[in-house]
Amino acid sequence: MSARVGVGGIFIECNHFTAQLADRAAFERSEWLAGEALLAKDTGVIGGMLSVLRDLGCEPVPLFYASACPSGAVEVAVYDELKNELLRRLSDAGKLDGVLLCLHGAGAAVNAPDLEGDLAGAVRARVGESIPIVGTLDLHAHVTSKMLMQTDALLAWETYPHEDAFETGERGARGMTEILAGRLKPVMALAKVPVLVSAIHGQTKPPGPFADVMQEAKRLEGEGAVFSVNPILVHPYLNMPDMGGGVLVVANDDESGAVSLAKRLAKRYWEKRVELQPETVSPADAVRRGLQAKGGPVLLVETADCCGGGASGDSVHTLRALLAEAPGQAAIVPVVDPGAAQVAHSAGLGQAIRLRLGHQLDPQWGDPVEVEGVVTKLSDGAFVYRGGIWDGRAGDMGPTAVVAVGPIQIVISGNATYDWMTEQYDLLDLSPADCKFVVAKNPMNYQQAYAGMMKAVYVLDTPGPTPANTNALPYTAMSSGWFPAEPEHTIDEPEVLVSRRRKLRTTP
Ligand SMILES: [Zn+2]
Repeated sequence: MSARVGVGGIFIECNHFTAQLADRAAFERSEWLAGEALLAKDTGVIGGMLSVLRDLGCEPVPLFYASACPSGAVEVAVYDELKNELLRRLSDAGKLDGVLLCLHGAGAAVNAPDLEGDLAGAVRARVGESIPIVGTLDLHAHVTSKMLMQTDALLAWETYPHEDAFETGERGARGMTEILAGRLKPVMALAKVPVLVSAIHGQTKPPGPFADVMQEAKRLEGEGAVFSVNPILVHPYLNMPDMGGGVLVVANDDESGAVSLAKRLAKRYWEKRVELQPETVSPADAVRRGLQAKGGPVLLVETADCCGGGASGDSVHTLRALLAEAPGQAAIVPVVDPGAAQVAHSAGLGQAIRLRLGHQLDPQWGDPVEVEGVVTKLSDGAFVYRGGIWDGRAGDMGPTAVVAVGPIQIVISGNATYDWMTEQYDLLDLSPADCKFVVAKNPMNYQQAYAGMMKAVYVLDTPGPTPANTNALPYTAMSSGWFPAEPEHTIDEPEVLVSRRRKLRTTP
């Protein structure tokens, strides 16, 4: 096949309940790629797309691709710049046979709350109705009607913890080449149920409620006209209408088959809603219970302050509980606080300092804590991810310090970073295995990072923009009831959206 396929996208997961917006620096710290630099990518979704296109003799045409660590919505000027850069390169690309977009699905710009729908619509307006547009999504996407209408096929990641970004890029590119070859006439059905739960029980390896839906989905994929089946556990931290989990089916020229399959699996999802809702404890209770556990580390999961879900990472709720309840126990606690990191760097190694720490970036969720400690480590905060969606990519905590308050080691960094394994702590030579307590600010990846090591786990109910229980958040955009806000809420049928059928051009 000699098709020319444009490759690009904007990838960010956004949070409407956090104060910090995504600025230009957030994208510059992560990925800002065009031309040869984009074509050189051999990891992640883009790497997977490029590898399949090349294997099948297609010409990948680099457009523009930018990603950033999850955060609040993207600033107006930054989104305009990213979008215009993509569209400009699309216009300059000459005749294309298709466009592949690497998207998250839960992106939001201040001026485009449905970032991916807006972007796909703009790309569609440029290329017209006969050129296929295929997008890839995180399984935590908020798939909107506009995204469905403006694209021809959407395929989502299938693992959580996320390990299949490359494979999803491959699937997206295969979908594109099947369309171009005339073998796939895609129609999408998206069935949604009003379930807004955190990702705590969202693992895809059985056992688990979401794993059960995923297993069933994968069993049915490939049967008959079914090209792809993707369960979606919506990122619940957007304040948007029509949020919900569900199932996205891409079928080959079989609309009613896609609709009935999506509906059937979405019903199964609905039946799992209570199992998806986590139990939580207060930080003080968790520390007291942890002290009763034999050995360590005991994981204190402060998921309400998850940088990987768009929080600032600056909460000190769990730190405060450790200082009060277990000041003599070895612990590691991460806090993002650029001002405090600067104070530690200015003071220098071995110096005693006094800090007013935390809740400076997003003050709505708590008050700073006063600590006196000793600067035991200083670093520029640069590390490299090992595996996951950003395998091999640089991570940037900014100026970082470890400040020890007795045996409690506080990791104070300048920038929020996504947690995959323990890259941030490895950089600083910190040893979680030797600690009684480790604070993990993510809902899922701690399970793999501390597998075989952790002695107990407590999911905490601290304030923050990414809480384990979504009832803590002030949603204002939902038009009807949802679980768990109304535990007794019932539905007759999942709501189903169907994509637009297009006469897509094929290539020999
Ligand atoms: Zn995700």
